[in-house]
Amino acid sequence: MKGFAMRKIGSTGWVEKERPQCGPLDAICRPLALAPCTSDIHTVWAGAIGDRKDMILGHEAVGEVVEVGALVKDFKPGDRVIITAITPDWSTLEAQGGFPMHSGGMLSGWKFSNFKDGVFAEYFHVNDADGNLAHLPEGMDLGAATMLADMVPTGLHGAELADITFGDNVAVIGIGPVGLMAVAGAALRGAAQIYAVGSRKNCADLALEFGATRIVNYREGDIVEQILDLTRGQGVDKVIVAGGDNNTFTQALKILKPGGIIGNVNYLGEGESVPISRLDWGCGMGHKQIRGGLMPGGRLRAEKLARLVTAGRIHPEKLITHTFHGLENVEPALMLMKDKPRDLIKPLVILD
Ligand code: NDP
Ligand code: ZN
Repeated sequence: MKGFAMRKIGSTGWVEKERPQCGPLDAICRPLALAPCTSDIHTVWAGAIGDRKDMILGHEAVGEVVEVGALVKDFKPGDRVIITAITPDWSTLEAQGGFPMHSGGMLSGWKFSNFKDGVFAEYFHVNDADGNLAHLPEGMDLGAATMLADMVPTGLHGAELADITFGDNVAVIGIGPVGLMAVAGAALRGAAQIYAVGSRKNCADLALEFGATRIVNYREGDIVEQILDLTRGQGVDKVIVAGGDNNTFTQALKILKPGGIIGNVNYLGEGESVPISRLDWGCGMGHKQIRGGLMPGGRLRAEKLARLVTAGRIHPEKLITHTFHGLENVEPALMLMKDKPRDLIKPLVILD
């Protein structure tokens, strides 16, 4: 089969590989729709998780099951499924402890395009199929369904990490597709004011549609000053970080009230350490929590988040600004993600 791979740090290309083998608990799927992720860019071009040789990229897919292992109960060939980007080993102690994304070790629930070949291929392997596939709801838009693999669960996890509660004033730093879903998540969880930080017009427009109350443009001035001005010097109760760089945490601490929480879902791709400004952290005594997390993954969560789409409470299909057809077009779609033209939010590749 052919797949689009990271050849080594800084380089991608097409590779030919054997179709993956199906273990007793596993499934083999073929993609129906795929999306590249900013994480693929960190992985290839920043070398953020170290080198990988000829590893097929991609972790966002909707697919059709072509084979299942003898012990798989709820899925059969021909089923149309959402595959979660994070595919934990559900029998591990970490999963039993509530952290499936770290099953088998830190970040080890993240298998596609990390420890094994990803989904940008004619076929791909899904471990623990009963735990990591979700039935595609009848009639669901393929674009919305593909966003349920990663963008929706990650953005909403930002709102969970920040523990947004009724009436919180919230800043969402970064309103690419992940941050936009974080805005939607904050709104669903009852935030009052949502200050959304970004600079692209179509992202800003969609942030307002998803529940942001103000847009803060980081290119037009310091976001700390802007958000402190908007809150009459008070700052916010919660911050979700879905963009920016290692210095964003210091900005987040400056705008966060004591007792507040920063929920980070940004993939920090570069640098040895993340500076935390001592004074803004209350000399270590400010009761300002910083939480960062990989999205959880798994079937139950995917099926529950799919209900939010079916019920019309979230509209992730609106993230898709560019649509391609055919597996060969994962390459230009990924390059679009790398180059980030200003009209891009998220590309989708449909396999006809
Ligand atoms: P995008 O690059 O599309 O969006 C990044 C956002 O951050 C944009 O709104 C951008 O503004 C904004 N931004 C950039 N620089 C700054 C800055 N200095 N200050 C404030 N805002 C800034 O990324 P995605 O939405 O696709 O992904 C966001 C992050 O989430 C990535 O790091 C990705 O790897 C990660 N991720 C994490 C996952 C997890 O499980 N935790 C899963 C999936 C993704 P603009 O472009 O408007 O100028
Ligand atoms: Zn992703």
